Amino acid sequence: MCFRPASAQIDIKCPECGKTLPVVGNTVLKKCPFCKHEFTDAEIETMKASLGGSGAPGAPAAPGAPGAPAAPGAPAAPKAPGAPAAPKAPGK
Ligand SMILES: [Zn+2]
Repeated sequence: MCFRPASAQIDIKCPECGKTLPVVGNTVLKKCPFCKHEFTDAEIETMKASLGGSGAPGAPAAPGAPGAPAAPGAPAAPKAPGAPAAPKAPGK
C-alpha cells in the first residue's frame, strides 16, 4: 500500500525554476536538483514556513511576553502623621 494523504504533501517550488521540489518530511533542500540554484537562507526559511511545521515545530510565534500585569495601583502611601503640634509655650 502506498497511502499518502494529500494533505501531508506540500509542494515546495523552486523560486528559481518553479519546479516542484521533493520534500521529505520536514527537510528542505538547500539546492534545487533541477536548476542547481542554491537557496538562500531566506528562501529556505520561506519553504520551511510553508511546510507548516509538521514534525519539528518551528518556533510557533512566541505568544509574546504576557506583559506585566497592570500595576494594581501603588498602595496608598501611609500618610505622614501630621506634624506633632508644637508644644505650647509654657507659662505666659
Ligand atoms: Zn530550480
